[in-house]
Amino acid sequence: MIIVLKPGATQEQIDHIAERLSKVGLKHHVSKGSERTIIGVIGDDRILSAYPLEAVPGIEKVLPILKPYKLASRDFKPEKTTINIDNKVTIGGDTLVIIGGPCSVESEEQILSAAKAVKEAGAHILRGGAFKPRTSPYDFQGLGKEGLKYLASASQETGLPIITEVMDPREVDLVVQYASIIQIGARNMQNYSLLKEVGACKKPILLKRGLSATIKDLLMSAEYILSSGNPEVILCERGIRTFVEVTRNTLDISAVPVIKELSHLPIIVDPSHAGGNWKWVAPLSKASVAAGCDGLLIEVHPNPEEAYSDGEQSLTPTKFINLINELKPLVKLMGKII
Ligand code: PEP
Ligand code: MN
Repeated sequence: MIIVLKPGATQEQIDHIAERLSKVGLKHHVSKGSERTIIGVIGDDRILSAYPLEAVPGIEKVLPILKPYKLASRDFKPEKTTINIDNKVTIGGDTLVIIGGPCSVESEEQILSAAKAVKEAGAHILRGGAFKPRTSPYDFQGLGKEGLKYLASASQETGLPIITEVMDPREVDLVVQYASIIQIGARNMQNYSLLKEVGACKKPILLKRGLSATIKDLLMSAEYILSSGNPEVILCERGIRTFVEVTRNTLDISAVPVIKELSHLPIIVDPSHAGGNWKWVAPLSKASVAAGCDGLLIEVHPNPEEAYSDGEQSLTPTKFINLINELKPLVKLMGKII
């Protein structure tokens, strides 16, 4: 951290700042220029986040050098994190991991049929929501525990690991019993009690970027999970709110290379919630692979016309197989396998 003092800051003020720094165990270095004095703070200055330094007389601005997220940063861990899912697939390694399945679990038959279809197409993981975060309280809210049971039997039948969302800290214990990966949805990215709760469990967490969250916000939320003791966090770019209306959200493709530079955590892309229409899923998937993502999360429904949620953005099993086949040469070009 660098502290820039106001022009004309007095020696008394400098001594006061120095005293405050040494009180919290930080060393410093004062550099007096012809017009300005600058104080370089040595050590882990995150300790100062609890002290409003800007309010100290004589200080003009404080420039942080270390990132506010520590455990999630590349500075802290230069090598990429890889996350093994049920000894079946690794996220963050050489495989472009494909997660496919419906938005919601609707019935035992529907999820089984979806599971068989995505497995046949080559997907590695089955998705399906049992607890659904819906904008309207009148819309289908998910089957809850019954949905988890249907997911478990579809997983047993096909051998696919399951990812499903948890919305409430009180339901984490229940969802952990069924899920191979726990999803934190976009709307809950900053639900810090929920993040701490999943941070205390022993399952990998897929953390979706909030609707209006910056990349820093996303990494700070990941930091909550990591600092609660769970090192297995997968980040997910799923589009953000912009002034563009033709798509449901705007896929922030630059988030992929930026996150890869800032963090060691795997980053996957959800083109379905980004585009909001099945037509955009294939081009957005290809762009994401080309940008270097570690995987894709795609909504697939046996009969999108009859889906309880997100039918318009769901691929039919045939469209999903075609997409995976189209992705194969691109994945190879990116030095990955599918
Ligand atoms: C979902 O994956 O079905 C979902 C609700 O996604 P998001 O949280 O990204 O809106
Ligand atoms: Mn959905």
